[in-house]
Amino acid sequence: MVMIAHLDMDAFFAAIEERDNPRWKGMPIVVGSDPQEGRGRGVVSTANYAARKYGIRSALPISTAWRQAQEALARGGPETIFLPVNGRRYGDVSHRIMEIVGAHAAAVEQASVDEAYLDLSHLKDWRAAEAACRRLKREILRAERLTCSIGLAANKLVAKIASDFQKPDGLTVVRPREAIRFLAPLDVRRMPGIGPKAEQALKRGGHNTIGDLQQLTEADLWGMFGEWGLELYEMVRGHGESALSGEWTPKSIGEQETFDEDTLDSRFIGERLAAMCASVAAQVRRGGFTGFRRVVLTVRFADFRTVTRSHMLPMLEHTAGTLKTEALRLLLPFFDRRENPRRSALRLVGVRVEELEEKPRRA
Ligand SMILES: [Mg+2]
Repeated sequence: MVMIAHLDMDAFFAAIEERDNPRWKGMPIVVGSDPQEGRGRGVVSTANYAARKYGIRSALPISTAWRQAQEALARGGPETIFLPVNGRRYGDVSHRIMEIVGAHAAAVEQASVDEAYLDLSHLKDWRAAEAACRRLKREILRAERLTCSIGLAANKLVAKIASDFQKPDGLTVVRPREAIRFLAPLDVRRMPGIGPKAEQALKRGGHNTIGDLQQLTEADLWGMFGEWGLELYEMVRGHGESALSGEWTPKSIGEQETFDEDTLDSRFIGERLAAMCASVAAQVRRGGFTGFRRVVLTVRFADFRTVTRSHMLPMLEHTAGTLKTEALRLLLPFFDRRENPRRSALRLVGVRVEELEEKPRRA
């Protein structure tokens, strides 16, 4: 059985800006070209949900977005914040999210800066896959304070349509036998490949929903779209590709914790580190890896000085016990003169494993 999830971050760029600038919380935010008071060229890259209430969305000319924001302001709505695209910062966040994503799947295909397909077939049943999606959403929220929407289905096509179904912060599961009924009521525009032109042509012919297209024969669709019509005939029935291309695997899996108070209590720190090791080992297992070769410990002192120590293992390891032993061995010198002559308190401790080895791929 094949189970594919499509993960899509919600209003990604705008959500990062809103998160990083609490004073704009809840306000309409538009990331894109400089509006130059309505004279700007270029388009909207991302609008958050508050800005979407003004009718502002991705790919809209920035001048139009500006006008709509001004009109909303005149009606007494809150001011819209226009911001330039900060690609490097979004890229960093994306990278961290994809590392979390990678820990949950047997294989990942990153489709864009904020979208990825995950192969969850190794989990064997839909309930387990749905639970993994919930865990993934929780973990991304906890680590990055950002929400995403996930669609889970038997192929990429239906998973992608499903991830868009309950945005933001949605999770939609479409099992194979539900696919036709799930797709039927949706607007034809929801079908990837149907752009504005095809949409117009279809709606002129009275075909408004994917269900309407399900009524058409292969010959009908071939007459309308040629070769692609035959593909569309399969797509509207929820048939699609499930192999992931350009597979991407994480280089490392790790966790870290900043303590509520700086401390040098070896028992407390040791316990926290042991808990992190258990969680990291579980992520290695869930991620479909057979093990890891390198253990890396990060320590941040109260004065923010950060030190990393690592140990290459003689052989591939996978248990939480081994990870704990290795991590504690790296930690111990920080409690005495070897790594901490001034006996400074610690602010943060983290552990991560690198040089992961993948399980052989299932066909
Ligand atoms: Mg997105």
